[in-house]
Amino acid sequence: MKNNEIVSYELVEWFQNYKRDMPWRMSKDPYKIWLSEIILQQTQVIQGTPYYLKFIECFPTVHHLARASEEEVLRLWQGLGYYSRARNLLHTAQFVHTHLKGVFPDSYKGLLELKGIGEYTAAAIASISYNESVAVVDGNVNRVISRLFQIGALQNEGKTIIKKLAIELLNKSKPADHNQAMMELGSLICKPKNPKCTICPISVHCMAYRDNLIQNFPPKLIKKTQRVRYFNFIVPLMNTGKVFLTKRTDNDIWKNMHTFPLIESNEELEHNALFIEVGKVFGNFEVLNITTFKHILSHQILKATFYMIKLETHSKIQILNEPLNTSPLFALNPTSLNFVGATFKKNNIFEVEIKRLREQYSLPRIITKYMENKEISAFLSSLCL
Ligand code: SF4
Repeated sequence: MKNNEIVSYELVEWFQNYKRDMPWRMSKDPYKIWLSEIILQQTQVIQGTPYYLKFIECFPTVHHLARASEEEVLRLWQGLGYYSRARNLLHTAQFVHTHLKGVFPDSYKGLLELKGIGEYTAAAIASISYNESVAVVDGNVNRVISRLFQIGALQNEGKTIIKKLAIELLNKSKPADHNQAMMELGSLICKPKNPKCTICPISVHCMAYRDNLIQNFPPKLIKKTQRVRYFNFIVPLMNTGKVFLTKRTDNDIWKNMHTFPLIESNEELEHNALFIEVGKVFGNFEVLNITTFKHILSHQILKATFYMIKLETHSKIQILNEPLNTSPLFALNPTSLNFVGATFKKNNIFEVEIKRLREQYSLPRIITKYMENKEISAFLSSLCL
């Protein structure tokens, strides 16, 4: 047996004995494998499992998912972030349902043609569902191979080398188990910090372990600078148990999801100056609470301030319920307040019952995080009729 074959043999044997029970591992259905892989690109197995189960319960087949509305899919996806993945999920389900009679392509190449399915996901589905000999390379596999063979650079040239080694290492007769074993090893044993080398099934083959150089592999990537944005959310509450909400329609984060009316600025705003502008829209109000926190997305840092206000009059609010009109409702004053943008438009701001917020509207994590704050949740509950 060649060395690569021995490594793979030992890896697969370890996997068969120690693999975790996961609901999608009981199936080879490409729909279920696809769904689980897309969810697991966003989160860990423990957090992702309830999402997977919820999706399968609501949409047991690709036909069911294809018939769902975007709102339903976004609501189920809520909390996972990166919402374009959820939109791609729906788009691909509709394509498979309409153009492929509900049957997923049965090869790596065919799967790559589908929207939202990249090399990694195509390799995972092709190997697990169809036993095709293609190697998966995700973050876990990268790390294992980088340490196993002491591969330094992870950019371009390094990635090509790792991919080549992943293919050479692949157990051609058991690609499904081999790929899952590599990912499982990276996730349970060969962790980014403090890998459990003493119980690693392939430690005798590992060059980084042999030379005591694990901390050097994989090399640290230089982090891209994250864009900082200032989000000022106005949370206008009414005695009727309602609050104003807005739907985001621009090509930006959280497209087609709902937030409280939002004003983006170039820097932190001076509260009183903002309140003058808010008064022009909502009339008199009482400030109940101001909450600030930082919310980190993959490429952006959001510095959020939530202004919870209780409206005193309905006179100004009536104009919000006028027929569609795209003219800006909010008179922006860029020079004094440094606004970047606001979503205060007559056509996309509407009142909703507070108690129905979570069940009826897709809300990004920043909004649900705010609503889960004890003090905020008490304010909201006191107004729910
Ligand atoms: S010996 Fe340690 S560093 Fe090497 S593959 Fe195993 S867990 Fe990873």
